[in-house]
Amino acid sequence: MDAPEISAEQAAQLARIDAMVVAGRACGTCTLCCKVVAVTELAKAAGQWCLHCRPGRGCGIHPTRPFVCRGAYCEWMICKGLGPEWKPEKSKFVLFKTNAGRRLTAHVDPGYPSAWRRSPYYENLKQWAREAAQRTPEMHVVDVMIGEHATVILPDRDVDIGIVAPDELVRLDKRLTATGEVIEVHKVKCAPAPA
Ligand code: SF4
Ligand code: SF4
Repeated sequence: MDAPEISAEQAAQLARIDAMVVAGRACGTCTLCCKVVAVTELAKAAGQWCLHCRPGRGCGIHPTRPFVCRGAYCEWMICKGLGPEWKPEKSKFVLFKTNAGRRLTAHVDPGYPSAWRRSPYYENLKQWAREAAQRTPEMHVVDVMIGEHATVILPDRDVDIGIVAPDELVRLDKRLTATGEVIEVHKVKCAPAPA
């Protein structure tokens, strides 16, 4: 099968993403993103291996894989501050940012559902949640997903919010109560994409 055509704009986008990869980092034997996240174009559900994946070896349709799979680097690949213990094949979860960087999600391997609770991961997720709550004008979100099931990590607690559909976003709001400020978690429908 021939490689699908991509536009000049898509090629430039891929070049920009490739330039973000930390020098010396490579997926190697890690293929975890091909299990933990959904790929709409392939009707692939989150938490299940892509039918095209050869776990531990790579993509079986690498030259013709969908555009969405190209340059879909996890945070470990592009963030210098994450050491080798954060490589997804070791940590058992994959960090991705979405919603223009306002949501950081740890997509956990369903075979290791407690992986995110281990040290040093949980302490870091909590620290990032504290920093996310300080963001203005809008708080950022740190969460954990196992399949489509999400748990939002807040500075003072973790909130199980159940299934987050592909057309939903997670939003945080602060509310003043008699005992002080409380962060509330809401699921909201995404605005439809412009025609
Ligand atoms: S999870 Fe990250 S390191 Fe692992 S295969 Fe995907 S992009 Fe590469
Ligand atoms: S098509 Fe290839 S790169 Fe894309 S999810 Fe499947 S195995 Fe991974």
